[in-house]
Amino acid sequence: MGVVGPTEEEIRKVIMPLMLSGAKMLERHCPKCGSPLFEKDGRVFCPVCEHRSRERKTGAGDVEERLMEKLTELAGSMPDDIALLEKHLSVMEKIIELIGKYRSLEGGK
Ligand SMILES: [Zn+2]
Repeated sequence: MGVVGPTEEEIRKVIMPLMLSGAKMLERHCPKCGSPLFEKDGRVFCPVCEHRSRERKTGAGDVEERLMEKLTELAGSMPDDIALLEKHLSVMEKIIELIGKYRSLEGGK
């Protein structure tokens, strides 16, 4: 896959609203798509790649990728409260378990 920078539509639909929402635009760029990276709630991410992967996931496929995304999201937002953290971690554990099941199902494709 070649590097495809954010399209005008993506800038308009993804980057602009993000800037308006108060996310901080960083000086670093995404190695995948060249879009500026953003920081919000202590999490650094590429809005364009996230947007693209969401778009790709309208179908039933890519469950594993979806789970991974959720896992990353959870890992990036650990609560300080111990009780909440425990819940958080048990959800992450379940997701990891599911991903493992998925991988064995797919049989090393
Ligand atoms: Zn990107």
